[in-house]
Amino acid sequence: MSEIAERQGRCLCGAVTVTAKEAGNSVGACHCNMCRRWGGGPYMEIACGTAVSFGGEENVSVFDSSAWAERGFCSKCGTHLFYRLKETGQHMIPVGLFESDDKLVFESQVFIDEKPGFYSFANETKNMTGAELFAKFAPPD
Ligand SMILES: [Zn+2]
Ligand SMILES: [Zn+2]
Repeated sequence: MSEIAERQGRCLCGAVTVTAKEAGNSVGACHCNMCRRWGGGPYMEIACGTAVSFGGEENVSVFDSSAWAERGFCSKCGTHLFYRLKETGQHMIPVGLFESDDKLVFESQVFIDEKPGFYSFANETKNMTGAELFAKFAPPD
């Protein structure tokens, strides 16, 4: 685990701001079909835990995207704001909302088995398939 850091970010139009008190510096990418349909490419995010608050909350729209997660976006400009696990309230927030700095490290990729062949990242990362991810975080029931 990398160090925990507070990060502040905002959407493209500025109607929504986000404060993530436990953001850290580790960047992950998700290649799953849903993330790529949602954003047009892999979802690059920072796991921010539950200590996340939003300003301009009246501009946050939430899409119920699966049985276990929901996705938030700015209703004014469409910027993607979070992927949130319903059960735990954990937020995965797009790294692009925050200012970039040289502490950020691209460390992991998930749903590597759903990544299409036309691109791949050159970074050396820890990679997991969807099945490996579910086995680790969500015991089937
Ligand atoms: Zn906006
Ligand atoms: Zn995904």
